[in-house]
Amino acid sequence: MIPDWTAERHQMVETQLRRRGIYDERVLAAMSGIPREEFVPTEARVLAYRDEPIPIGAGQTISQPYMTALMAQELALTGGETVLEVGAGCGYAAAVLGALAARVITIEIIPQLVRQARANLHRTARDSNVEVVEGDGSLGYPPAAPYGGISVAAAAPDIPPALLEQLGDPGTLVIPVGSLADQDLRVITRRGSRVFSRVATGCRFVPLRGGEGWR
Ligand code: SAH
Repeated sequence: MIPDWTAERHQMVETQLRRRGIYDERVLAAMSGIPREEFVPTEARVLAYRDEPIPIGAGQTISQPYMTALMAQELALTGGETVLEVGAGCGYAAAVLGALAARVITIEIIPQLVRQARANLHRTARDSNVEVVEGDGSLGYPPAAPYGGISVAAAAPDIPPALLEQLGDPGTLVIPVGSLADQDLRVITRRGSRVFSRVATGCRFVPLRGGEGWR
């Protein structure tokens, strides 16, 4: 039997997102419209709407839908921003951010996943305002800075200084910071000369690699 993806997506949005407190209607609409099954490996498609991270190859995972939604909501995007994502993986979160902002740069360090993300974004016609760059995102991506939002999809030992430097005003950085075993999802907001920081939730992400990551 062919799964009814639209029904699964609707179910995910209602039970995993809305019921747990995701209230940003733009985020809910974006995740209602993006075919998550197109972003996971073919053999994992039946798991695409599960309430957990799913392996996507190269030892990496696509984040739990709730985490993707929460991170997007915390960025409080209004549509005009340029957003940087660190850790494209399969490209799903970048597609969600692309529906919420003017332009998305997503940077990925594993070449095999760069190719996957590009292919998935192209197949789903989400690549008109989403660009996949190969490189070390722990150093940010200066050519397109400053960013109205930066979303980091891998756990960092500390906040990489380059990401704060490349954060615009106003701008919000969402990043899991902590040990390899568990982290806080930190939300750093810049407004004028002031920088605010708070913790949205506890979480567990795959490690950030590269210069400002875990070596
Ligand atoms: N955004 C994905 C989640 C990807 S998991 C989603 O849609 O669910 C995190 C990704 O970060 C992995 O693909 C990993 O390879 C990548 N990564 C880890 N360190 C990185 C770095 N320094 N620069 C860029 N990508 C990195």
